[in-house]
Amino acid sequence: MNKDWSDKNKKMQTLIGKEATFPEGIDVLIDLRNNLFEQITSIAKNYPAEAFYLMPFAGADGYHSKTLIYSMWHIFRIEDIVAHELIAKDEQVLFTGNWLKKTKSPIITTGNELHDEGIAEFSKKLDVKAVYEYCRAVMESSNEILKKLTYKDLKRTFTDADKKQILKSKSVSTDESAVWLIDYWRDKDVKGLLKMPFSRHWIMHIEAMCRITNKLCQKAKKGVDQIAYCGLSCAHCFLKDWCGSCRTKYNTCSYAKCSPDGVCPNAACCRKKGLDGCYECDDIRDCKHGFYSLGKEVHAIKSMSLFIRKYGKKEVQTVLENLHKKQDFEKVQEVLGDDIDQGLRILEENR
Ligand code: SF4
Ligand code: SF4
Repeated sequence: MNKDWSDKNKKMQTLIGKEATFPEGIDVLIDLRNNLFEQITSIAKNYPAEAFYLMPFAGADGYHSKTLIYSMWHIFRIEDIVAHELIAKDEQVLFTGNWLKKTKSPIITTGNELHDEGIAEFSKKLDVKAVYEYCRAVMESSNEILKKLTYKDLKRTFTDADKKQILKSKSVSTDESAVWLIDYWRDKDVKGLLKMPFSRHWIMHIEAMCRITNKLCQKAKKGVDQIAYCGLSCAHCFLKDWCGSCRTKYNTCSYAKCSPDGVCPNAACCRKKGLDGCYECDDIRDCKHGFYSLGKEVHAIKSMSLFIRKYGKKEVQTVLENLHKKQDFEKVQEVLGDDIDQGLRILEENR
């Protein structure tokens, strides 16, 4: 489990357990939820439409066997039902916000009753942007409920009348793979619910979503040129496990992610100029486009580009292998420094 998330989750559980620290515990819970939601935002913003219905781990045992969009729907349908039917005893966000129509979902349930092909078919029908907005609306609505809770509320339990209310809402399928959820929730108190649908359940599914995106990225870049437009080598990049390279639609390079529409200016400029990469451009030394606008910080990447221009892509990868054998480093800048010519010299000395 991601250490930061796990630590915050443990801290929240300890803090909400005592009256004096309960408000701080709720703050930690909301902070954890914000951190986790950032991950969902990053996925929703950066991956192509197909990524949301593909199942790279189809048939596996675990949450990673689902799709990205199913996971998002499932996490927030569960939270919406629990937060509103059980805790606040008011109407679910799904209905107050007309989200069924907006998301194009054919079901109002949590999706537990769906399996394999059923999940894939369901996933293709959903509007990704609308589902993301629904998730956000549920999170914000639940956060308001959480902020109003008192320490005394934690011991509140649920009754058969609550169970009947959920059944009446038809929000949980009566299929045996789903209906158990109602008893599971009814048998918990509010504290028990905070520890699962509002926190741990998110962590487990979001970690599975990261596994799915990583796998999709690895699949996407198989057989693709491993030298990026700017001159970086994907095989030696510290992001290699979770980026699909800027030569595929699974580009999650941090620089591309912070650029408008997720398109890296260097990649866009090369494509516009009909160049294979910046290493073919005569303006590279003085270029301040996109990634190169970071100046000295990325002069090492310009050194790599100039090296590629002189010796080719295969040779730069061999040199990087040599450097990695000699020294432990994460970013090539740590070895090549911030002087373009000196970086080029170091690369040449390690041929
Ligand atoms: S900075 Fe741009 S060109 Fe370089 S690896 Fe990232 S997306 Fe590709
Ligand atoms: S102008 Fe800059 S970003 Fe564009 S191809 Fe040349 S070096 Fe790359």
